[in-house]
Amino acid sequence: MKISMIGTGYVGLVSGTCFSEMGVITSCLDIDEKKIADLKNGIMPIWEPGLEEMVRRNYEKSRLSFTTNMAESIEDAQACFIAVGTPPDEDGSADLQYVLSVAREIGKNIKNYMVVITKSTVPIGTAEKVRLTISEEIKKRNVNIEFDVASNPEFLKEGDAIEDCLHPDRIVVGIDSDRAKDIMDRLYKPFVLNGHPIIYMDIPSAELTKYAANAMLATKISFMNDIANFCEKVGADINSIRRGIGSDRRIGPYFIYPGTGYGGSCFPKDVKAIIRTADENNYSLEILKAVEDVNDRQKETLYHKAVKHFDGNLKSKKFAIWGLSFKPNTDDMREAPSLVLIDKLLAAGAEVIAYDPVAIHEAKRKLGDKILFTDDPYKAIEGADAMFLVTEWTEFRVLNYPVLEKMKDKVIFDGRNIYDPEEVRSKGFKYYSIGRK
Ligand code: NAD
Repeated sequence: MKISMIGTGYVGLVSGTCFSEMGVITSCLDIDEKKIADLKNGIMPIWEPGLEEMVRRNYEKSRLSFTTNMAESIEDAQACFIAVGTPPDEDGSADLQYVLSVAREIGKNIKNYMVVITKSTVPIGTAEKVRLTISEEIKKRNVNIEFDVASNPEFLKEGDAIEDCLHPDRIVVGIDSDRAKDIMDRLYKPFVLNGHPIIYMDIPSAELTKYAANAMLATKISFMNDIANFCEKVGADINSIRRGIGSDRRIGPYFIYPGTGYGGSCFPKDVKAIIRTADENNYSLEILKAVEDVNDRQKETLYHKAVKHFDGNLKSKKFAIWGLSFKPNTDDMREAPSLVLIDKLLAAGAEVIAYDPVAIHEAKRKLGDKILFTDDPYKAIEGADAMFLVTEWTEFRVLNYPVLEKMKDKVIFDGRNIYDPEEVRSKGFKYYSIGRK
């Protein structure tokens, strides 16, 4: 069985590689020629645990290939997944130009029946637009080629992407043809030998399921951040509250950790996009509007704590930042809370030196020489007026107190509540965290 995966980013590369791992002949296509050339040479465009080895293994066995040529990629394929980016347009809606340009290319090159599947996160109605675009191109060629469309939103998490892809909690497929369903069944059954479901539904519902899932997760985060901020006002402890509510099975213990706000390539843009789609349909998603507001505010929370601690004067202070990526185990810097903090600190006249185990090259692309970077967290704190823990990489969990003595002022702002306040304070540090006494 052969498939084509269009778009070789986080989603396309990981899921394409996982299909090849299951024995499916997979052709990954991208318009970025450098990315494709690098992949052929074993150079990964992203940092994702376990990916490099799996790509290499399947590439060597010729189950996985990389190309920029559409005709070659979709030739003899039974399924073609569209996994290109859907960034926010100026008004917050999803920009479909990349998805539709792929659809045009498919229409120009398709020779045999296949199911064309949107894996990108796309608003309701996109699969229909893809169908129309492909049909128009086929018509222009004066040929008659059958195809189906389907929606198969992706739920992988960066940092756990391989595991999520190989052992998904569920697979959602929006479909309106039995022929396409047989192909999707064949493709996905190997991923659910653990008994997890393939949930078939109509195409619009599948498209909306992805937005609803991300909106719900973003809501959990903003809810906990809101309660954490309230805790600080009334002297309660969010960690105790988290345990207290998380043990209720209706709520559950997952995804209820307070922090510095959600970032990444998905939650911010998907929350914006679903709000926008609802507005266009004369419905105001009030909860999600509040979720966004709370998140914007939360990204500034460490900055405001610093302003308060230093009596409003951050000018010429030197600050160390630990962790830059939007979450651990990824080098993705898109919408990372660290960027908001850094901007605010720089605007206040401070100097910033940052460390991250894997995201420094991405951070340099975004920040250039606006801040300093180091390859050692304990070099960052030398002579620093304070340290900000922004991303909770595991290597930060145990503090090396003797080396921390090299700080100029012993102040720690912990944006992820990973340290024990009593322990840190007993070592003579001023310690600030989120929603704790
Ligand atoms: P990405 O930016 O990492 O990758 C997109 C890739 O598509 C790029 O390599 C780009 O060069 C390529 N591309 C753009 N136009 C193309 C074209 N016309 N032909 C071929 N290739 C083209 O994006 P991503 O993070 O993989 O996200 C892709 C989609 O999946 C988005 O809709 C996103 O919302 C969704 N998604 C992302 C994640 C995630 O964790 N990153 C998770 C689930 C869903």
